[in-house]
Amino acid sequence: MRILIIEDEVTLNKTLSDGLKEFGYQNDVAENISDGRYFLSIRNYNLVLLDWMLPDGNGIDIIADIKAQSPKTSVVVLSARDDKESEIEALRAGADDYIKKPFDFEILLVRIEAKLRFGTSNIIEVDDLVINPEEEKIIYKGEDIELKGKPFEVLTHLAMHKDQIVSKEQLLDAIWEEPELVTPNVIEVAINQIRQKMDKPLNITTIETVRRRGYRFCYPSKKA
Ligand code: CA
Repeated sequence: MRILIIEDEVTLNKTLSDGLKEFGYQNDVAENISDGRYFLSIRNYNLVLLDWMLPDGNGIDIIADIKAQSPKTSVVVLSARDDKESEIEALRAGADDYIKKPFDFEILLVRIEAKLRFGTSNIIEVDDLVINPEEEKIIYKGEDIELKGKPFEVLTHLAMHKDQIVSKEQLLDAIWEEPELVTPNVIEVAINQIRQKMDKPLNITTIETVRRRGYRFCYPSKKA
């Protein structure tokens, strides 16, 4: 679970960051909208804690962008505005929750838990590699990798069954709509594309061939 904190009050964002880490949430801190946007462009977040009044604008103005980019990311607005209208405005702008400052950390924590329970995503994150099945997106060290279609699905399936050997038949059944109509060598073609388009240029190994048995997701490779 990764959280982005966009908050310009230094003592508060430090308290939030340390507190969340203590409860097992990885997090990044941005002190203004432009840094926040930068983090959002390189990483996937399960949740964004968003201050309303920031040095370079209003936090609520970027909610729509966050949601457009990753609909499953929850946005919790933190604000010193305690009037009803502001709360309504934030929720209408797409916020999933609105928490008035000052707040109790424990309360914040349970509300975060509640949001995350709701929006559990299928994002696979292994080391520097992030696979986002909903958006058909692979990010390696912050860079987008061009791998789409069947090769992407094969990679995702293997990554989801990490440490297991998956046979060609299982892959065909899982990914092809009419497996009986294709020859098993479509799998070899897909694996080959993963190796050519991703592994080779990045100099990594993601999939290992297990003779006569199938394939196994092996990133990060122990051999390297
Ligand atoms: Ca502020």
